[in-house]
Amino acid sequence: MNAYQDDRELPPIPSQIPNILGIFPLKETVVFPAIPAQLSCFRPQTVQLITDVMQTNRLLGLMTLKKADREVPIPSDLCRVGTAAFVQRMWHLPDGSLRLIVHGICRISLKRTTATTPYISARVEALPSKGVQGKKVKALAVGASGLFQKIASVLPHLPDELQIAAINIDDPVRLADFVAFHLSLKTDEKQAILEDLDVRSRLRRLTVWMSQELEVLDLSAKIQSQVQIELDKNRRDYLLREQIRVLQQELGEQDERAAEADDLRSRILAAGMSSDAQREAERELDRLVRLPLAASEYTVCRTYLNWLVELPWNRTTQDNLDLRRVSRVLNRNHHGLGKVKERILEYLAVRRLNPQARGPVLCLVGPPGVGKTSLGRAVAQAMGRRFVRLALGGLRDEAELRGHRRTYVGALPGQIIQGIHRANARNPVFMLDELDKMSRDFRGDPATILLELLDAEQNAAFTDHYLGMPFDLSGVLFIATANVLSDIPDALRDRLEVLELPGYTEEEKLWIARKHMLPRQIEAHGLTRKHLTLTTPAIRHVIDGYTQEAGLRGLERAIGAICRRLARQVAEGETRNARLDVVNLEDYLGCPRFLSEIRERKDEPGVATGLATTQAGGQIFFVESIAMSGRQDLILTGQLGSVMRESAQAALSYVRAHSDELGIDADGFSSKDIHVHVPAGAVPKDGPSAGVTIAASLASLLSGRPVRSNLAMTGEITLRGRVLPVGGIKDKVLAARRAGIRRVILPEKNRPDLSEIPASVLKRMRFDFVQTVGEVFAIALRKAPFRRANGD
Ligand code: ADP
Repeated sequence: MNAYQDDRELPPIPSQIPNILGIFPLKETVVFPAIPAQLSCFRPQTVQLITDVMQTNRLLGLMTLKKADREVPIPSDLCRVGTAAFVQRMWHLPDGSLRLIVHGICRISLKRTTATTPYISARVEALPSKGVQGKKVKALAVGASGLFQKIASVLPHLPDELQIAAINIDDPVRLADFVAFHLSLKTDEKQAILEDLDVRSRLRRLTVWMSQELEVLDLSAKIQSQVQIELDKNRRDYLLREQIRVLQQELGEQDERAAEADDLRSRILAAGMSSDAQREAERELDRLVRLPLAASEYTVCRTYLNWLVELPWNRTTQDNLDLRRVSRVLNRNHHGLGKVKERILEYLAVRRLNPQARGPVLCLVGPPGVGKTSLGRAVAQAMGRRFVRLALGGLRDEAELRGHRRTYVGALPGQIIQGIHRANARNPVFMLDELDKMSRDFRGDPATILLELLDAEQNAAFTDHYLGMPFDLSGVLFIATANVLSDIPDALRDRLEVLELPGYTEEEKLWIARKHMLPRQIEAHGLTRKHLTLTTPAIRHVIDGYTQEAGLRGLERAIGAICRRLARQVAEGETRNARLDVVNLEDYLGCPRFLSEIRERKDEPGVATGLATTQAGGQIFFVESIAMSGRQDLILTGQLGSVMRESAQAALSYVRAHSDELGIDADGFSSKDIHVHVPAGAVPKDGPSAGVTIAASLASLLSGRPVRSNLAMTGEITLRGRVLPVGGIKDKVLAARRAGIRRVILPEKNRPDLSEIPASVLKRMRFDFVQTVGEVFAIALRKAPFRRANGD
């Protein structure tokens, strides 16, 4: 049934209303003037009302109920403003109820109730609308009509005819009521518009409401289309994935992958990661499950997850800090090194009393082969910790330590995390070997990472680029090693507690060889003590004939070589046991490699022996000078550094200035060039400590008095001939001792350094302490008759 189509056949609508009308109470609806509306009525009172009016003027008052909870409404339930309406049509329905089409005539206000039975009747008054003329109301009406058409076109439940109807309503009053009636406003909003007598205000309210509604509709349309796109994408993904699943099932891969994912999931849960790390791992696993097997990313993702689950996030070993046991283990493995061992024990004692204590990082400094690495290993063994070693030598790229980001092809975690992975515990003893050999370039400075690593405050959240999440390194015991302290970057050195291992004396080497190395090597080669006897003189001969070092590597290698040879003889049945003495040592080791240069050396003018420290500990070196015809030039060769060149200049100036005292013919070298050369290639030729040696060599050359050959010296000189103290005295003295030198000239200020040198060495050597170069010459130069230096 359509009220608009039936319009023509309907009886005419009166324009006047009587003073008293029967009231039809409306439940949750509002009827506006000039608009047809359809109503139903069930209650006997209203049925009676309709029956009565249909027999008279067909007019009634439509009043909306404020609250509709009463079975029979009373007058106070009614709103005070309503609509007088004309009943155009009425139908009886089978259930006894009625259906009506009514047409509003005008707004009315309810003045006074005149009867309440059988239905409410009341005196009413028509309410005319205000502001119905003028441009403003027209403009408002045009705007409202436009908005309504828009809304009607968007909302599916509003029939298209409404748009046409709206276009054809010219009267602003009618338009406002028409729009208000058809919009889905709440009942009280509609009632408010009915009660508003000013048309402009009615139109304004409707305009605001419609604009907001349109915005909401717009937004919801956008959301709707977004949802549609998402749905389409999800559906597409789902279909593709399903296809992949079916294909994989066909290929028998599916079960394998599901099992793998399950396995990874349980390993992630068991790994004890931090909650952040776990979340990241699970996210990555979800990604892995979705990736096709053939995708290159699959392997990358898989490798990453493997690293994550295998890292010892909360795996630790139990520390054993029984100091007596630690001391026993250290002593069992290492002879001597009293001070170093004591410092290690103190360090561990503090840890035992205060496990949270973050002492400085220990740094063992000394030449190769003095036992730095093996000490670290022994500390780990004694504490019951795992041991990892990372050689920093030559490391120049930050990424080697901290890893590459996963976006790099073939990226892996850095060496630190790899070390922890190898240790399989979160608290190993981590040895950072050769801290002084690290370099840096444009790819970043690895030293900065070490700073972070060695800082207890920062290393609890060490972030490797590959892992992309922090890993707690605070439980790690870092021990660093270096050959030369001065090559360690300053900032790093500040965080280290340096323990020096300066090298061993011959006596110490002898002892270590007998007590530690020989038994170890014999066992390592499958021999027994019965098979090999190495006499003490033989070991001494190995020490000075086959090795020349501050440490023990060469010695260990030589003993290893002897054992190897013997093992073969025993295995081939050639011999059952061997006793090695100096005489038959050559059968096992070949000719001695180091002949004492000192022993070979003849006293010659112009040659002096100096002492230097190098990466490999102390060393002796020779300074040679010759003179030749020329123009007083000083030629320096042997790749000398600038400091050494300056020392040579200073030395020559001094010798020239004191030619009288030295008995040198000053005119003799006015027509000569002097050439100074430092031959032994391994000696670093920088550092001022060669000053006295060069001065002695020049003085010897020019005076013709040879330098004593069993004597060596070290010290810096000033232009005025003072001798200044230098470093590395212990290394230098030990090197002199190794080389068979008996007498050493040292700067007076270095006298206290002798206390570091073992008594066994001091006993066999003579030391002269000097303050001036004059004293050096007096001690070092033989009293040979004056002979003109002529360079041949
Ligand atoms: P570094 O790390 O200083 O180069 P290593 O730790 O590799 O030296 O030592 C070389 C060898 O010398 C090892 O086999 C070690 O056991 C042995 N060694 C070094 N010092 C001692 C010592 N004091 N007592 C016993 N053996 C030692």
